[in-house]
Amino acid sequence: MRKMLLIAGLIMLCSFLKAQPPVLEGGEFRVNKTACLTSEERERIKAALKVKMAELNLTKTFVQNDDPVKFIWPVVPAPTNTDTGTWGISNYVDHDAAYPNKVKDYNCGTRTYDTDGGYNHQGIDIYTWPFGQFKQLNSEVHIVAAAAGVIIAKGGSQPDNNCSFCTTACQWNAVYLRHNNGSVTWYGHMKTNSLTTKPVGATVAEGEFLGVIGSSGNSTGPHLHFEVYENDTYTKLVDPYAGSCNTMNGTTSWWKNQRAYNKPTINLLQTHFAPPVMPACPGVETLNDRNVYKLTDTVYYAAYLIDQLSGNSMSWRLFRPDGTQYAIYNQPLSANYYSSYWYIYWILPNNTEGYWRIELTYNSTGQVAKHTFYRGNNPPVYSLKQGNWHDGSTWSTGVVPAGNEEVFIQHHIEVNGNATCKSLRIGEKGRTIVKAGVQLDVLK
Ligand SMILES: [Zn+2]
Repeated sequence: MRKMLLIAGLIMLCSFLKAQPPVLEGGEFRVNKTACLTSEERERIKAALKVKMAELNLTKTFVQNDDPVKFIWPVVPAPTNTDTGTWGISNYVDHDAAYPNKVKDYNCGTRTYDTDGGYNHQGIDIYTWPFGQFKQLNSEVHIVAAAAGVIIAKGGSQPDNNCSFCTTACQWNAVYLRHNNGSVTWYGHMKTNSLTTKPVGATVAEGEFLGVIGSSGNSTGPHLHFEVYENDTYTKLVDPYAGSCNTMNGTTSWWKNQRAYNKPTINLLQTHFAPPVMPACPGVETLNDRNVYKLTDTVYYAAYLIDQLSGNSMSWRLFRPDGTQYAIYNQPLSANYYSSYWYIYWILPNNTEGYWRIELTYNSTGQVAKHTFYRGNNPPVYSLKQGNWHDGSTWSTGVVPAGNEEVFIQHHIEVNGNATCKSLRIGEKGRTIVKAGVQLDVLK
């Protein structure tokens, strides 16, 4: 569903970065638009769901009332992810029945698509960003029930690294929920074997885990396709967003809190020792992120945004360890992008060891992202050992934490390159989960 738009080759980028600071590179991260389901596949699913509903014995199994169902957002970060944001929106429902290239979303914009074959996008596409393949691989973005309901069908064994329209019949991994007012929600493109272990017929609570975002079925990259029907005849589609161009449920929102059409957000502010490598699908991104640097190292500051709007601006500020400001760069934003990334770089003094801080203020929203990193020529090497992680007092030369303890780390650390530590991510608040059996060598 998406591919990287190469604004400038990374080799070019590296050569630019040696010029006078601050040097800025970046641009749009473009999301492909591909039919999430073929019409044949959609009809097959509808028929299968009707069979399942009959098997489940509607009158005995289901509550039925006319109370409106209100949804929460169906995507949440995994507990191990502490990024400010983990996703963006590529497509809303298409309310223009004509095709091709006749599109209109609920807000009368064009953030949707149709196809030559007559498909008008019937759901909301929520994609992982930044590092969507990395997030899929590490199960960092979860799909949850938008409202309480009953699982009426599910299937999760299909491959999940698709990057284009299927050339032969293919199925997505999905969970289907039926809610108390009779409405049905579809959650498609899930990661292989990531689905809830609850069986068909079981109830789920609002916000309960259903699966992990993946790229199964007709998909060009990891995303959730969220589709809503008014009832189990599957003849009346619902667009949860109220809006003047919503031809389905008009000004009745199905969200508890309807998100703004555009909500400019800094999903992540990060430091890198080299620009991250973002290969085309299904390649997994190499993050090149680090929080500990030698004084001679180059530090790249990177911002990953969603809903970038022309006319907005951001202010980058770099602070020394004593809290004084070292540099500032005001960056105007001159284009509309669903997602974008920006790198800057300053030449830093070869002294002033300690914990530096980069801050990024999104001037139009007031959001301030902060990221702290260490600069010094000989950072001490520490290891974690089993103990009371919660008070930050157990740093030592020991090894091997055990169990899925929640860890609150009061130091900025980096996992040594020799360690096997895929499961460890250190967020700004120093909160992470250490999985059983993972050996950690860390730099304080
Ligand atoms: Zn879709």
